[in-house]
Amino acid sequence: MRLVILGGPGAGKGTQAQLLCRHLDIPWIATGEIFRSAIAEQSELGRQAQPYLEKGELVPDPTTIELIRQRLLKPDALKGWLLDGYPRTAFQAEELDFLLDQSGQRVDWAIWLKLSESVLMQRCLNREASRSDDAPEIVRRRIELFEERTIPILEYYDYRDRLVTVDGDRSPQEVHQEILGRIAPQS
Ligand code: AMP
Repeated sequence: MRLVILGGPGAGKGTQAQLLCRHLDIPWIATGEIFRSAIAEQSELGRQAQPYLEKGELVPDPTTIELIRQRLLKPDALKGWLLDGYPRTAFQAEELDFLLDQSGQRVDWAIWLKLSESVLMQRCLNREASRSDDAPEIVRRRIELFEERTIPILEYYDYRDRLVTVDGDRSPQEVHQEILGRIAPQS
């Protein structure tokens, strides 16, 4: 199963991603996490990404697309995956399909955790693990970017009949059960 999870900052993407990956036995690939550990390791990728993460801006497409290309080549990605935080722009979504096409693959489902802006804001501000980009003005920018750049992707997947929209403003278990029912009714 090849999945993409979409939602604004604080939508619960990480939580749902981990529940799904455990259930489906597929790797969780989170671009934000990859960037954060690259920054901690002070690698070349980390040096490129750091100024963008600090401001809540998007890392430029060439860097992000190359990161995903390489990650999807790793052996564990053969059995499927769940992408969390990628794609974030329509261009990244197209690039992903282009990349997958080359090996006869495709995204099975794009899962959208739908929440209002005010709930997203509140959730980020209440987050326990304090991330430096969860500061109010940076969260505001990340929500704005989500609206501007990521919302158009919903149309992209909807048009291809691959979009699953889920009300994200419920308990993690309720959201998880609904996702499972929608993407894998047989399980
Ligand atoms: P996240 O953990 O998904 O909220 O991502 C944290 C930060 O990593 C974002 O605010 C961006 O700066 C960067 N980032 C993660 N994924 C992407 C992506 N697909 N394209 C561009 N920047 C990204």
